[in-house]
Amino acid sequence: MLKYTLLENAIDSIEYGIKQLEQAVHTNDKKYYKYSLLNLFQGTELLLKEILVQINPIIIFDKNSLYKKCTDPINPKIEELYDCKSIDVNEICTEIRKHYSNDFDSVSLRLIEKIAKERNKVQHFAIEINSSTIKTYLIQLYGKVIKPCFKILNDYRLAFNENLIGEKIEKLYCLHSNANREEAMLKISDEDFRRGCCSNCNNYSMFIFYDKNCSPTRFYCTSCSHERKKIDISEFRVCPECGVNSLIYDDSLYGGICLWYKCANHGDGGVLIDMEFCDTCKDYVIEGVCECNKEDDNDN
Ligand SMILES: [Zn+2]
Ligand SMILES: [Zn+2]
Ligand SMILES: [Zn+2]
Repeated sequence: MLKYTLLENAIDSIEYGIKQLEQAVHTNDKKYYKYSLLNLFQGTELLLKEILVQINPIIIFDKNSLYKKCTDPINPKIEELYDCKSIDVNEICTEIRKHYSNDFDSVSLRLIEKIAKERNKVQHFAIEINSSTIKTYLIQLYGKVIKPCFKILNDYRLAFNENLIGEKIEKLYCLHSNANREEAMLKISDEDFRRGCCSNCNNYSMFIFYDKNCSPTRFYCTSCSHERKKIDISEFRVCPECGVNSLIYDDSLYGGICLWYKCANHGDGGVLIDMEFCDTCKDYVIEGVCECNKEDDNDN
């Protein structure tokens, strides 16, 4: 009960926060930056608590108040916990450092503390906020804190409930909303990208980046760990499916993937293209055809 409410509230706040950040960027109206900061930060706090709850629910409660309000502080009753004070942002960071040091580096934790300060200023003082600083902070908060939290929660979900059909639907829903949030944040960040289907997991959650070039330079999927951090322009071959020079060989999938968004976006998107190394010409055989074979055919 406790767990469910926390996560639901966290997701609500984050979705609101992202929508307000979109509005802020479109209208340049400072009030939306303020709302976005309040909501995204509140959502972050709840998500961080949620990952601590996975270790032990009592971590997120103030120790003094646990001892004061509960008959057995180590195994408190839910009704008793409603009267207990929960820990503040600094204490949350201390616990995160203790339990999740591999997932959050010191930069992420400092970022949380920095944004907490801005949030307090907004809540308690009438200050002018610099909108571009807030925007940068919130984009970083999303990438360095919110995303890793969702990943951790998803890993717990996978570890405990993989076989239930309800869980599977919920998981699919989560992956989809993850990708939607990612898309919204990338647009806010002015990234040059397209969204398509992942050839590894088949979810519509692969983000292909152009970075102002005419061909893709990198990609990653938010549903699985499939990614390429750097793609050299010399890797591209003509895709037999769409005829565009956007096919690359994928070492981990042992096949070709087309990165042209209209091809990757296609209903059958995410399908691997038969592609292997050609021993004769040291290039690729694509769907059984190789440039060196073709030339032979022409000669004959
Ligand atoms: Zn994937
Ligand atoms: Zn293609
Ligand atoms: Zn060949």
